[in-house]
Amino acid sequence: MNRDDFPILSETVYGKPLVYLDNAATTQKPRQMLDAMADAYLYRNANIHRGVHHLSQVATERHEQARQRVAEFLGARSEKEIVFTKGTTDSINMLAFSFGEAFVRKDDEIIVSQLEHHSNIVPWQMLCERKQARLRVLPLDGNLRIDASALEGLVNERTRLISVAHVSNVLGAIQPVEDIVRIAQRHHIPVCIDGAQSAPHMPIDVQALDCDFYVCSAHKMYGPTGLGVLYGKQEWLEQLPPAEGGGEMIDHVRFEKTTYNQLPYKFEAGTPDFIGSCAFAAALDYIDSAGRESVCRHESELTDYLERRLAETEGVRIYSKGTAKAGAVSFNVYQGDRLLHPFDVGTLLDRQGVAVRTGHHCAEPLMDYLHILGTVRASIALYNNREDIDALIAALRKAIAMLG
Ligand code: PMP
Repeated sequence: MNRDDFPILSETVYGKPLVYLDNAATTQKPRQMLDAMADAYLYRNANIHRGVHHLSQVATERHEQARQRVAEFLGARSEKEIVFTKGTTDSINMLAFSFGEAFVRKDDEIIVSQLEHHSNIVPWQMLCERKQARLRVLPLDGNLRIDASALEGLVNERTRLISVAHVSNVLGAIQPVEDIVRIAQRHHIPVCIDGAQSAPHMPIDVQALDCDFYVCSAHKMYGPTGLGVLYGKQEWLEQLPPAEGGGEMIDHVRFEKTTYNQLPYKFEAGTPDFIGSCAFAAALDYIDSAGRESVCRHESELTDYLERRLAETEGVRIYSKGTAKAGAVSFNVYQGDRLLHPFDVGTLLDRQGVAVRTGHHCAEPLMDYLHILGTVRASIALYNNREDIDALIAALRKAIAMLG
């Protein structure tokens, strides 16, 4: 890994060197990923799967190799279990629709947790409205982690699926998904893991997790925007109906009856992002060339350092303090009882070149639970270092002094 692979990190904002700590929203892109994208557009661009001509066959091969690369990266048993989508949100919507059509009836229940991203709430809520089913909510423990022990009391014979985040996008806290899967399996309930914030930061092995579904977004993993993954165990995907109709997803189309393609194409209506998939494969190569274990180690050391430096800063209140984190730390600043508005803090950090995110982070139910409107969130990626954290802390001290 070389910071020079990310030209944007050498940019300045308001004449100050950019300190990019908004990686949970999206990561910056290495040249290697963009080279792969340019190469695909410049030399291998043809629509895939249908063409007999050479270029179409090459493009098809590259796209399918990219699928294999994703399968390998996530530890899937087969590339048939990897559906390309537009992103995590699209993956969950697709699953909620498709699973809902097949398995959810009136009075059935779906379980999510209190800390989910809206993307892992609203699609299930919409499904519940369609089917007159109920959304149940797993509570949090005192340290703002999902309370897995509460699951036993929540599941019943009407529970159809549990969908939870692997890592909270607000708190950065790693969630007890292994415990949730273990309990769910005792009750034969499938589990979907929202991996948007875990796939970028830790080695993922969906077979070891033994989850039924896992979703993530390429743009949070140094890859292109508009591409994501829905992993599903083959035995589940076989049972689910397509969520969208169109080209590619069919076997034969007759006005009387259309039959559907095999996995995973049944779920990929229309021309897929066969350029983005190649670029994503290059992004995964980039992560692997840095070494997933060493990225994970570097980032967790940095997250610990970030949390420690924040804790030393007067008035800073860290959420889910002391829990194992991957990538992000959320905090607010208090002067006595007065909360400094996270938007004001974020704006003053921005003026000093430090990019963080402020607000509800698409997790309003978690904000309601915490009785706050928002937080300031600093989030890291493999290219961040201690100097970035030191710059944040120095800028934060100035911001606090100005707001005081
Ligand atoms: N879930 C989590 C935990 C996230 O962090 C995000 C992105 N902030 C999403 C879902 C949605 O991802 P996308 O916007 O890429 O679809």
